[in-house]
Amino acid sequence: MQAYPKHYCGLFGIYGHPNAAELTYYGLYALQHRGQESAGIVTSDGKQFRLHKGMGLVPQVFTGEILHNLVGPIAIGHTRYSTTGSSHLRNAQPLTVDCGRGQIAIAHNGNLTNAAKLRGELEAKGSIFQTTVDSEIILHLMAQPSLGGEENTLIQTLRRIEGAYSLLIMTENELIGVRDPFGFRPLSIGKVGDSYVLASETCALDLIHATLVRDVEPGEIVIIDKNGLRSIQAFPQQTRRSFCIFEYVYFARPDSTINNRSVYKARVEMGRQLAREKPVAADLIIPVPDSGNCAALGYSMETGIPYEMAFVRNHYVGRSFLQPSQLIRDFNVRVKLNLIEELVKDKRVVVVDDSIVRGTTFKTRVNNLKQAGAREVHVRVSCPPHRYSCVYGIDFPDRSKLMAANYTVEEIQKYLNADSLAYLSVDGMVKATGLPAEGFCMACYDGNYPVPFDPLLDKNINERRRRVLGLGEALEKEERQIKLL
Ligand code: SF4
Repeated sequence: MQAYPKHYCGLFGIYGHPNAAELTYYGLYALQHRGQESAGIVTSDGKQFRLHKGMGLVPQVFTGEILHNLVGPIAIGHTRYSTTGSSHLRNAQPLTVDCGRGQIAIAHNGNLTNAAKLRGELEAKGSIFQTTVDSEIILHLMAQPSLGGEENTLIQTLRRIEGAYSLLIMTENELIGVRDPFGFRPLSIGKVGDSYVLASETCALDLIHATLVRDVEPGEIVIIDKNGLRSIQAFPQQTRRSFCIFEYVYFARPDSTINNRSVYKARVEMGRQLAREKPVAADLIIPVPDSGNCAALGYSMETGIPYEMAFVRNHYVGRSFLQPSQLIRDFNVRVKLNLIEELVKDKRVVVVDDSIVRGTTFKTRVNNLKQAGAREVHVRVSCPPHRYSCVYGIDFPDRSKLMAANYTVEEIQKYLNADSLAYLSVDGMVKATGLPAEGFCMACYDGNYPVPFDPLLDKNINERRRRVLGLGEALEKEERQIKLL
């Protein structure tokens, strides 16, 4: 992955454990890849919430002393990514509210497609928002008075929100997990001893020695309290499923299992399938680490062509380093990946990655290989071309910046200066997961958006909000981000 689209969040929650905050910390640590800009944990001791959140990576936000003060046997935690404009502590999660129903905390992974509309309606009725994230809308809806008890309030709230969401909700005495009816984002149930755990990915369960019970089903609400776990289906009529296939391609960690399918095996199989569909005579297969590792291995296994880690990744590259002067051209690219030149000299090389989003970085990689003496450079991509943006919580660039939305495969090959370029087919990608195509969202590949959205409506509402409320530059940037999504 060259342009590194970002995910919006990782979730972890635990009920009934004496070290709830500490285990949540480790759970978030395992989910750090799903969000690197802020982290937070809130605990409940049955009467009182204790919250700590901050900007930065999980170990930067929490110290031993902070965790020690987060007392209580119930906890939920969150790691968040946002673009610069919305990177504020006020938007860090979990969000909490103290309302007529008591205290409620929420942590959200995904993106609501009717957020601007709902927010406008709530503001018109007098709601005052503290943040600019759409997760707060859910909190406001849940805090509103309604008939029929708390479970009914939650169901009514879920039936008003649209889009992609996996949620963790904590009340003083409960831990609740929810997946949207399409099941866009993952959420798994685990157990450690007698304690239930909810986590975005199973790699977080592994770290704390929890065993996987099952995934939360699309549209399901699981409520965990002193009586154990009970389940409610909030959308009994919903049949279409739309799990984000990009979780298998890139986002989820390869050591996670989703829908009973190993992400690692799915990625290796994508590489095998790519080799069957788009073979090429070559001497060497090399991945772009780490995103291309599994698919390159599969390509090598299928073809019998040797696999070498010719690009070496520097794992200690932070987000901010001094901007390079003209003295060191390609600094940004080389600082992350360095090439072992003697491995590729005089070789016909196949370089494998999981996607080309903008193409600029990949072009430099191809040139690195040619300058190092590679005789031919063939580029293979283990998913189809990305031609559409994502409105469900993955930070893809605007369509105008998506390479494959604007150029043919031949044009991209020419731009990259590659000897050949080929992508995995949509059918091949689905086949590699071992799951039926009807269960996936593939909108960024085929433009078929399972949940409709109205970018114009969002644009108009947000412009009105800016005019009426006189909100500043930070919100404008936030809105730009909303439009990008
Ligand atoms: Fe995932 Fe792409 Fe669908 Fe977004 S549009 S949810 S990235 S498959």
